[in-house]
Amino acid sequence: MRILYGKPVAENIKKEIQEMLFELNKRNKTPKIALIRIGENMDDITYEHSLKRNLKMFSIPYDSYVYAQDEDAEVLKRQIEKLNKDDEIDGIMIFRPIHPQIEQFEINETIHWKKDIDCATSYNQGKLFEKKSNLLYPCTPRAVMETLRFYGVDLVSKKCTVVGASQVVGKALAIMLIKEKATVTVCNSKTLDLKAETRDADIVICATGQAKLITKEHLRDNQVVIDVGINFDNGKISGDVDFENIDYDNIRITPVPKGVGVITTLTLIKQLVEKTLKLS
Ligand code: NDP
Repeated sequence: MRILYGKPVAENIKKEIQEMLFELNKRNKTPKIALIRIGENMDDITYEHSLKRNLKMFSIPYDSYVYAQDEDAEVLKRQIEKLNKDDEIDGIMIFRPIHPQIEQFEINETIHWKKDIDCATSYNQGKLFEKKSNLLYPCTPRAVMETLRFYGVDLVSKKCTVVGASQVVGKALAIMLIKEKATVTVCNSKTLDLKAETRDADIVICATGQAKLITKEHLRDNQVVIDVGINFDNGKISGDVDFENIDYDNIRITPVPKGVGVITTLTLIKQLVEKTLKLS
């Protein structure tokens, strides 16, 4: 088994970010991001801490806004509109999914597409279907693509099974894989024979939030397995794959923790810097 750690991928992305910041510096430009958290969801708070720590590491300034989970949608929209008009702000990130009490579609839609750093608007999501490259991608699927690229996994003509079909991860990832000429199967909770779908694939990507759903019987030798899941299992973090019991000789697999999770935050920062460079 070969473990595909996130750290070398992250180091490579850090280098790319530094190089782009250097270019921006020559143009007297420093990108700035606005972070909007609604409610006290622990996943959001953890992600926010990690993001702030990394932004500080690159000396990238940010403004942070925190609202109650029952905040009036009009107040949120007014704040986003203000940020849209603020020339100092290059990216707006709202931690998702927004609490169900608030209509998340209209909040996300308020973000100007050029500042939509996590591809939350239907405009940017729609652009995923176009042939040419996007300015902005959803960060978790892009982190998966960065991992595959870094480890030299060829996608052309390969069978990819994506387990999980959420808007934020599975569906967007499927489109991105199709654009790379992979043959893609997407599974959900009603898929009849998950084992057959995963064993048939060259590349398996799991994002379900079901700890250890994918067992040894779901996999076979010579596959690449990317585990996006972050699950809290008896005080321990585990992925969607039953990692400890996978013992095929030539399988390549990302661990949890120390896998894709390390890359997602940096991918968001990369997108902020990259698109600021493209548009400046
Ligand atoms: P959602 O709950 O929104 O979606 C889960 C998806 O998995 C759904 O499509 C669901 O199917 C499917 N699913 C659930 N159970 C099964 C099953 N038994 N067999 C097949 N499919 C199943 O989750 P997210 O997409 O938001 O997140 C998924 C995981 O990824 C979570 O663990 C989350 O913590 C992690 N994550 C990690 C990130 C990172 O940076 N590494 C970032 C974002 C998320 P159905 O559509 O039928 O309901």
